[in-house]
Amino acid sequence: MIRLHDTMARKKRDFEPADPSRITMYVCGPTVYGRAHIGNMRPPVVFDTLARLIRHHYGEDSLVYARNVTDIDDKIIAKVADEGVEPSLITERYEQFYLDDTGALGVAPPSIAPHATEEVPAMIAMIEELIGKGNAYEAEGHVLFSVPSDPDYGALSRRQRDEMIAGARVEVAPYKRDPADFVLWKPSDPDVIGFDSPWGRGRPGWHIECSAMIRAHLGETIDIHGGGLDLIFPHHENEIAQSRCSHGGAPLARYWVHNGFVDMGSQKMSKSLGNIVTPEALFAAGHKGETIRMALLSAHYRQPLPWTETLLEQAKATLDGLYRKIGDAAPGEVDASVLDALGDDLNTPLALSRLGQIEDAATLKASAALLGLLEGSADDWFRGGRDDDAAAIDTKIAERAAAKKARDFATADRIRDELAADGILLEDGPEGTTWRRG
Ligand SMILES: [Zn+2]
Repeated sequence: MIRLHDTMARKKRDFEPADPSRITMYVCGPTVYGRAHIGNMRPPVVFDTLARLIRHHYGEDSLVYARNVTDIDDKIIAKVADEGVEPSLITERYEQFYLDDTGALGVAPPSIAPHATEEVPAMIAMIEELIGKGNAYEAEGHVLFSVPSDPDYGALSRRQRDEMIAGARVEVAPYKRDPADFVLWKPSDPDVIGFDSPWGRGRPGWHIECSAMIRAHLGETIDIHGGGLDLIFPHHENEIAQSRCSHGGAPLARYWVHNGFVDMGSQKMSKSLGNIVTPEALFAAGHKGETIRMALLSAHYRQPLPWTETLLEQAKATLDGLYRKIGDAAPGEVDASVLDALGDDLNTPLALSRLGQIEDAATLKASAALLGLLEGSADDWFRGGRDDDAAAIDTKIAERAAAKKARDFATADRIRDELAADGILLEDGPEGTTWRRG
């Protein structure tokens, strides 16, 4: 049994997929114009963990998970102008960085990764439908969604109209009939990326991208729609309005799942606040992706996660301990108490504490895999997380081998004892000397 907190219902609900043999999940993906920070890594890790849980319950092939790539956007256009290169050079570069960073954190690629630039005809079709139904209108080369045409607008965020207008940071534009109306299509200048459309050369707004891709790849109503808390308004509210209005009232998603922010001190980690930590910087400092994943899963996904150096150190120490326990065990059966914790709205802190109590290596390995942990080589972890430690130990082992070769057994024994005092145990074998942390 899986229970999920549904933002629309404001409570936890039993998860009952419409079709258990084809469960559909969509998560808003990256806009590819810069390196991701740790806050950006939380949604892919959280929803990767949920995907693992769903596949465990319903079968390996039960889930279709789509995560889009936004490769048309004003920030991308600005970056292209800065660097004076083709847009695809920017977007392909940062998409690859994103895949590398998330991959290092044990995030499996989604089943489908639709790209906005490849889905423009589907977006144009949906915009035409909305115009036809009286939910959108053309004005000065733009197409706008008419918020007053949708009486149910605002159900997800439960905002009042005044708040919505203030919150949407509404541009005062003469072509808008209502200040809350939002852009579905806008004109492109001749020197920036654009596509032919019934409204002239232009490009889609961000919100229509998700609605059109969801319908094209997953269907009108999906089981789970996910993303960060900051997307509830206006992005998800707008996705809902577009999809529901073009589908004659059919809801966009049956469960809305939102993750909280990663905080730095009292502030949300954000590029605009300039307080970001990137996976790139943490890798350079010798941290492993798995340590970052463990740290991200240490708090419940709906709660804020304060990011500190201590958090990383604790995650690493916990992983060291768990890897020592599993050795090279093959996975066995998943522990029921870990499964229960994850099934209760993905309670990863509880699941992690239960992992720590499992003594049987095979059970531990299988249970940790549900969280995307302990899938690496135990050998890497016995060798410590930091390459500089490992290099220093290898140097001492080489010195000891040289001493033995020179029949200087006193020196060889002294090196072995010094390492043992640091908790490093040596094992001599036919292939040479290996070491592990005792
Ligand atoms: Zn979206």
